[in-house]
Amino acid sequence: MKIGIVTGIPGVGKTTVLSKVKEILEEKKINNRIVNYGDYMLMTAMKLGYVNNRDEMRKLPVEKQKQLQIEAAKGIANEAKEGGDGLLFIDTHAVIRTPSGYLPGLPKYVIEEINPRVIFLLEADPKVILDRQRRDTSRSRTDYSDEKIIFETINFARYAAMASAVLVGATVKIIINVEGDPSVAANEIINSML
Ligand code: ATP
Ligand code: MG
Repeated sequence: MKIGIVTGIPGVGKTTVLSKVKEILEEKKINNRIVNYGDYMLMTAMKLGYVNNRDEMRKLPVEKQKQLQIEAAKGIANEAKEGGDGLLFIDTHAVIRTPSGYLPGLPKYVIEEINPRVIFLLEADPKVILDRQRRDTSRSRTDYSDEKIIFETINFARYAAMASAVLVGATVKIIINVEGDPSVAANEIINSML
């Protein structure tokens, strides 16, 4: 399978847009898989007996977290290899905001394993992202709930995505998730992969 990585600020709409991507690809009868990187890390962590739930992962020693990152990358790469023709999309983050600074979500040992064709940056105006976060009461995204922080994170995500792309010769594409219609972004993503 060809791999596309979809990144973006928490609340911009990655999961929503990717479920649209799935819907469109199913309609077109194109073989596809959507994987959430965090879910994949958690699955590996539970298999290895490191944690019982998602929140325990952040408390693991950094070395163990890195091990989980690479195991997830290997697992996803393997899924793509065994999945035959079609498209596999990864729902993840290009940067993670931590108290020590911006942490790359796609460091060398991850991006080389996955070897994506395109890294997408799903974007929207910071004000629009804030509105989406506010409307979505099912999740807490307090570490990204400030317009200036969102603006800064969008910029760092762009630098991080290009730096990762340089390592594997992938392209980087900005996709706007327009308000009210996630299928616009979904179609742009699909068309950039075919
Ligand atoms: P996270 O990284 O935290 O998982 P996410 O990028 O996956 O966030 P979603 O959960 O897909 O974000 O979307 C956040 C909220 O924004 C949801 O309530 C969703 O319904 C809404 N949303 C997504 N796309 C759009 C859109 N194009 N127009 C209006 N609302 C949208
Ligand atoms: Mg999501």
